[in-house]
Amino acid sequence: MFLRVPLCAALLCCALPAACVAAASDPDLALALTTPAMTEAKSRTCATPEPTAQERAKLTSLRRSFAQGPAATVGGTIQVALHVIHDGAQGNVSDEQIEEQVRELNHNFLGTGYRFSLASVDRTDDGRWFRLLPGTGEEKHMKQALAIDPAHRLNVYTCSPGHDLLGWSYFPFSFPEDSFMHGVVIHYGSLPGGPIVPYNLGRTLTHEVGHYLGLLHTFQGGCSEPGDYVADTPAEATPNYLCPESRNTCPAPGDDPIHNYMDYSPDACYTEFTAGQDVRMDAIVPFYRPSLLDARLAFEPPAVPAAGVPDMPRVLAFRGGWPNPFRDETVLRFSLPASAHVQLRVYDVAGHLVASVIDAMMPPGDHSAPFRAAKLPAGLYFAKLRVDDTPLTQGLMHVP
Ligand SMILES: [Zn+2]
Repeated sequence: MFLRVPLCAALLCCALPAACVAAASDPDLALALTTPAMTEAKSRTCATPEPTAQERAKLTSLRRSFAQGPAATVGGTIQVALHVIHDGAQGNVSDEQIEEQVRELNHNFLGTGYRFSLASVDRTDDGRWFRLLPGTGEEKHMKQALAIDPAHRLNVYTCSPGHDLLGWSYFPFSFPEDSFMHGVVIHYGSLPGGPIVPYNLGRTLTHEVGHYLGLLHTFQGGCSEPGDYVADTPAEATPNYLCPESRNTCPAPGDDPIHNYMDYSPDACYTEFTAGQDVRMDAIVPFYRPSLLDARLAFEPPAVPAAGVPDMPRVLAFRGGWPNPFRDETVLRFSLPASAHVQLRVYDVAGHLVASVIDAMMPPGDHSAPFRAAKLPAGLYFAKLRVDDTPLTQGLMHVP
């Protein structure tokens, strides 16, 4: 039987997250486990890591920068590379199920401006990867082998994870945008028509893509501020496991958001993202996943490469900072056609060096690096990128 228990994981410097199982003490969980209909079911267990203190600081900083909301509504089509991991016939989901899953994802994100297009499907018969666990060498090896162009594509892996997990993903701010660790892992049984009742309408992928685009659980932080950093999702003390009307677990006004895709409710109870969550995604995606929505522009016509062979940009490009102008932090973005020594430095208008952001050999591909200017005076700065002997410069406007 699948137990619905919160999993937490800590991100360590340069280390993969290690999942740790926390004891479940939620009364709804106890109810779920003693209700005959539910004991037959596998339950929602999401192992997306808790944001670290450093990541929460980034969210706080971002919230200040976007106090009035992002400059423009963000949206576009996200190319999906879907990887089916199966063990013989087990988990080898059909093309029709995959197409239905992408339809469901698009239906759930209606109104947010984000759309999803299936760019490629590949299949791998591997019993060990099939029973994947988060934060393991197996996860790293699988993603390293299978991930396609992570900066420009949402990589989705279907398998039968251990610990009865339904899925997990990583936040945009957890790794550089081109890291192969990004993407979503889901249980194949959660696809539409899969065997995991009542989690087989395809909405586990919606929940995990919510994390992938920067959303936290609605019960993040319990009743305490800042919770999930979204104003219009009422605070919630614990995850919701069934679909009770008028559940209210916090003193603050508003019933628990049990219909929200970022709670732990059964699929049929999931019906919405809020306007505040949409604004949050619009603030985070261009900042931490700047290449995701321009995949078509970067690779027109869109090509479907062989599994494990990422697309590479054809030309050297320095796209400057985003956002620009910026308050506390901006992300400097560039593309390399081949391995090169990269030096990225920021100077003030008087020509004084204020930050050395990168000085290293780097592989081909799209790269991004944050530049924090919170302690620097407002004004004009210059980001200078030197790739081997080629210098490129972009202006940056730091506003108070
Ligand atoms: Zn989750």
